[in-house]
Amino acid sequence: MSCHSAANASTKQYIHSTDSPMYSSLLQSFQQNPRWVNSKTRKPLFMVAPTNESEIQAAVICSKANGLQIRVVSGGHDYEGLSYRCGSPFIVIDLINYRSIDIDSGLQTAWVQAGATIGELYHEIAGKSPVLGFPAGLYPSVGVGGHLSGGGLGTLVRKFGLAADNIVDATIVDVNGKILDRKAMGEDIFWAIRGGGGSSFGIITSWKIKLVEVPSKVTVFTVGKIGKEAQKLVHRWQYIADKLSEDLFLRVILQNSDVNGTRTVKASFNSLFLGEADKLIPLMSNAFPELDLKSENCIEMNWIQSVLYFAGFINQENLNVLLNRTTLFKSNFKGKSDFVQNPIPETAFDEIWEKFSRVESAFMLLDPFGARMDEIPDYELPFPHRKGNLYNIQYLVKWQKDGIVESKRNVEWIRDLYEYMTPFVAHSPRAAYFNYRDLDIGTNTKDDTNCSKAMIWGTKYFKGNFEKLVQVKTRIDPENYFRNEQSIPVMKYA
Ligand SMILES: Cc1cc2nc3c(=O)[nH]c(=O)nc-3n(C[C@H](O)[C@H](O)[C@H](O)COP(=O)(O)OP(=O)(O)OC[C@H]3O[C@@H](n4cnc5c(N)ncnc54)[C@H](O)[C@@H]3O)c2cc1C
Repeated sequence: MSCHSAANASTKQYIHSTDSPMYSSLLQSFQQNPRWVNSKTRKPLFMVAPTNESEIQAAVICSKANGLQIRVVSGGHDYEGLSYRCGSPFIVIDLINYRSIDIDSGLQTAWVQAGATIGELYHEIAGKSPVLGFPAGLYPSVGVGGHLSGGGLGTLVRKFGLAADNIVDATIVDVNGKILDRKAMGEDIFWAIRGGGGSSFGIITSWKIKLVEVPSKVTVFTVGKIGKEAQKLVHRWQYIADKLSEDLFLRVILQNSDVNGTRTVKASFNSLFLGEADKLIPLMSNAFPELDLKSENCIEMNWIQSVLYFAGFINQENLNVLLNRTTLFKSNFKGKSDFVQNPIPETAFDEIWEKFSRVESAFMLLDPFGARMDEIPDYELPFPHRKGNLYNIQYLVKWQKDGIVESKRNVEWIRDLYEYMTPFVAHSPRAAYFNYRDLDIGTNTKDDTNCSKAMIWGTKYFKGNFEKLVQVKTRIDPENYFRNEQSIPVMKYA
C-alpha cells in the first residue's frame, strides 16, 4: 500500500503518558468538540499513534493484558467525545499516522487506512481522476474510521446511498489482536461494521471502497430566504425534495441570523446537481417553481470544487484545504437527530423560529432521502432509515464561551427543541442517526451492559437490526472488551 505525500508530511510518531509536556496539546489536537476539552472526565493514561498494523495489534494485546480500556480516534468528531473519553482507566489510539490511500482508478476502487479523513480521500481521488468521486459526508476533517463505520451521509446520498453502502472490503484488529479481512471476519461482522459503529467490534484498520462516477461538470446553488417566505418554502420543500431526480440533492439549512438588526431564521436552499445548469433550471421550475431558481444563482464546476463549496470554501481554489484535519467551524456544540416521514405542518415553523431566537447559534440541517435510499432494504446494513423517510434532521447548537453555565443553557435549549418536535417526526421508535451521536437517547448501564437497557437507544439508531448487531458482537467480542456508553452489548437480556 502506498503512502501519499500529504500523510508523510505531517506524521507525528508518539507514545505519551500524562506527565509528557506534549500531553495536553496532543489531546486537544484531536478533540474536535471543545466542549469536552476542559470537562472533568478522566483523561487517557497513554496516547499512542501507531504507524503500522502490528503496533495496533500490540496496543490491543497490551491494553487488554493490563486491564485498560481503549478509545480509538480517527478524525475525532464524535459528538459526545467517545473517541477520547472513558469512565475507566484507558489509552487512546490515535490513527493519525495510519492514513495512506491507495486508489486504483482503473478498477474504481481504493484502500483507505482508517486514520485518513474524508478530505484527504476526496483530495486523493481528485488527483487521480476528475470524473470519480465518493459518496461520503460534507466536512473534510471527518475521519473515515468513525464516519464510514457509522454510515456516512453527504451530497451524493440520493444517487449512491451512504458511504457505508459503497464499502467492498475492510480489515479489523479483533479483541485477540488478530487481523481479519472480509473473508476472515465473515459476512455478518462485515455487515455490522458498515453502519453499526466500529468501536463495538474491534479496531478497523482500513476500508476498501468502491468509487463512483461523477460528471465532468456539476452545478451548485444556494438560495437564501428569511421569515415567513422561508417558512412557506421549507414547508413546500418537504413535498418534493425526496422525489426529485436522483441527480439532484437539495437540502435546507435553517440558521438563526440577524437581518437589519432583527433576529430571524434564514433558510438556505443548498443544492448539488450532477449535470449542467441548463438541465437543472427546467427541473427546478417544474418541481419547485416557488423557489424561482434563476441561472444567475447557479455555478458550474467540477465535482471536487463542489466538495470545497459544500465544505464552506466558497471562493477557495486550492484543494490543499481539504487536507486540514481540524474542523473549519470549531466551537462547543451539541447535536441531535430525527427522521421525518410526513411533512411537518407549516404552523410548526412559527415556534421553531421563536426558539431559534433564544440562542447564539442554532441550526437545523434537513437532508433529503428518496431515490437510491428508497431502493436499499432496511436490513441491508445496520443503518435502517431508508424507504419512507422524506429527510433527516440534524439539530445543532453551538456556543463560543467555555464553562458549565453556557454548556447547560445550550444543551437545555436543544433538548427543548427536540421535545417540541416529537409529534412531527418518526416515532415507535423515535429514530436517530448513529453518526450524530446523542447520549440523551440512552446509554448502557455503568458496570455492565444490559441488552434491555441498550435496546432503548439501540432500536432508535438501528431499529430491527439491533438484535443482529448484538448477535455479531457476542460472537466477535464475547467478553465485551470493546465497550462504551453506546457500544453494542453482548447477548444478555434482563
Ligand atoms: C463538523 C462535523 C461535520 C460532520 N459532517 C457529517 C456529514 O456531512 N455527514 C455525516 O454523515 N456525518 C457527519 N458528521 C458526523 C460524523 O460522521 C461522525 O461524528 C463520525 O463518527 C466521525 O468520525 P471521526 O472518525 O471523525 O470521529 P472519531 O471521534 O475519531 O470517531 C467516532 C467514533 O468511531 C470510533 N472509531 C473511530 N475510528 C475507528 C476505528 N478505526 N475503528 C473502530 N472505531 C473507530 C471512535 O472510537 C468513536 O466511537 C460530522 C461531524 C462533525 C463534528
